[in-house]
Amino acid sequence: MSKLVIAIDGPAGAGKSTVAKALAKDLGLCYLDTGAMYRALALAASRAGMSPESGEDAAQLAESLEISFGAGDPPSIWIGDEDVTTQIRTPEIGELASALSTHPGVRRVMVKQQQAMVADGGYTLEGRDVTTVVAPHAQVKVYLTASLEERAKRRHLEMEQKGLGELEYSELRKQMQTRDHRDITREDSPLAVAPGATIVESGGLPIEGVVNRIKALIPPGY
Ligand code: C5P
Repeated sequence: MSKLVIAIDGPAGAGKSTVAKALAKDLGLCYLDTGAMYRALALAASRAGMSPESGEDAAQLAESLEISFGAGDPPSIWIGDEDVTTQIRTPEIGELASALSTHPGVRRVMVKQQQAMVADGGYTLEGRDVTTVVAPHAQVKVYLTASLEERAKRRHLEMEQKGLGELEYSELRKQMQTRDHRDITREDSPLAVAPGATIVESGGLPIEGVVNRIKALIPPGY
C-alpha cells in the first residue's frame, strides 16, 4: 500500500499552512508548502530585475534554482545555501509570486519538482493546485476555505505577529481578493475544488476542529 498523502488547496488565509503543519506533526508526515516555492522563485526573479510578465525568463530561472526546505517551524526555505525564510513573506514577494504563478512555463517546472518531492508519499502538502495537478491521487483531498473577511483578519493578525504588519486591513483584504481572483480565473490549473475533494470551512472553527475533520477523511488502514 502506498504511503498516505494529504493534499489541501484553498484561497489565501484559509489556514492551510497551520492545518497542514498540525496534520504532519500528528501523523508523522513530511510537510510541503508549495506556495513557499513560488515565493522563493519570486524573490530570485525580483533580485534579477524580472517583471511580473517575464514568464519565460522566470521559468528558466526556476529550472536553475535550487529550492530546498530545512528544519524549523515553519520549515526554513533555502535558495542554494541562502536561508530566505523571512524574505519570501513580504506582501511584495507574495504579489510577484501570484503574478508569476499564472505563467504555464513556471507552473510546469514547479509541479515537476513538487511531484518528485512527494512521489514516495508520507506527505501533507498545500497550495492552489495540489489536489488538482500535483497530487490528484492523494488519499485525502481537501478544499479549505472561509469568508474573505475571516481570511483577511487572520492574515492581518499573522503579519502583525511576525512584525510584517505595515499594511492596513482594508488594503490587505483588497490584495487578497485580487489574488484569489487571479488564482481562480487563471487559464493554467486554476484554484478549484478537485473531483473527490471535500470542502472544509475553517471559519469559526478552532484549528483542532479543522484538523480532526480532515483526519476523519483518512481511509481505513492508514
Ligand atoms: O500560499 P502562498 O500565498 O504563500 O502562495 C503564494 C502565491 O503562489 C499564491 O498567491 C498563488 O498565486 C501561488 N501559488 C500557486 N500554486 C500553488 C501555490 C501557490 O499558484 N500550488
